Amino acid sequence: MINYKSKREIEIMRQAGLILAETRLELERHLKPGISTLELDKIAHDFILSKGAYPSFKDYEGFPKSICTSVNEVVVHGIPNKKVILKDGDIISIDLGVEYQGYHADSAWTYPIGNVAPEILKLLEVTEEALFRGLEAVKPGNRVGDISYAIESFVKPYGYGIVKELAGHGIGRTLHEDPLILNFGNPNTGELLQEGMTICIEPMINLGTANIRLERDGWTIKTLDKKPSAHFEHMVAITKDGYEILTPKL
Ligand code: MG
Ligand code: MG
Repeated sequence: MINYKSKREIEIMRQAGLILAETRLELERHLKPGISTLELDKIAHDFILSKGAYPSFKDYEGFPKSICTSVNEVVVHGIPNKKVILKDGDIISIDLGVEYQGYHADSAWTYPIGNVAPEILKLLEVTEEALFRGLEAVKPGNRVGDISYAIESFVKPYGYGIVKELAGHGIGRTLHEDPLILNFGNPNTGELLQEGMTICIEPMINLGTANIRLERDGWTIKTLDKKPSAHFEHMVAITKDGYEILTPKL
């Protein structure tokens, strides 16, 4: 069931998204070789609380930390750890969730640390662009499959692996609502996009194989071939003629 939001609800989600955006900016200031993912978690946790909000991922289905920090071959859901220290040439995907006045915001971004190999930088560039290709398909009258198709058809020529087991989603009072928004699919299929929907679009794209595996910690998802993976996500509200990004890059 899709929960359509009122203007008042979207205003709260806009505020949640702004807190998320400010948190991301704060984290970006600390992204350099030598910092641990646990330190990043603490920075985000304290910052979010200082804004009168709460980190959505903390204790979500038992997730032990406040943010997801996924380094190199980790696709998503990396658990912050003091032993994971960023080094020159790494990439890190940071997935952030913020709950504010009962509503959630959700957005992810992948960053290069220091000097990153050109083929990996290209993966980041293409995955970010894939997010925006998906967003271009967001308008009332289109369908969820139009978003999926826009992402898949853009990424395919590069030969990258499109992760199939994870997807975008609706969002609101809960972190994951209908509809499910796959990163592959056929145009003019799936749920109708309508004004008042709030959704997250989030391509997860691998340099090599699309295949993934879940680690023993029950959270960390890695590429099967250990090649790097990128993840870009925005939360948007569907407007009468398109969309509004609620988690802007500041
Ligand atoms: Mg999401
Ligand atoms: Mg996310």
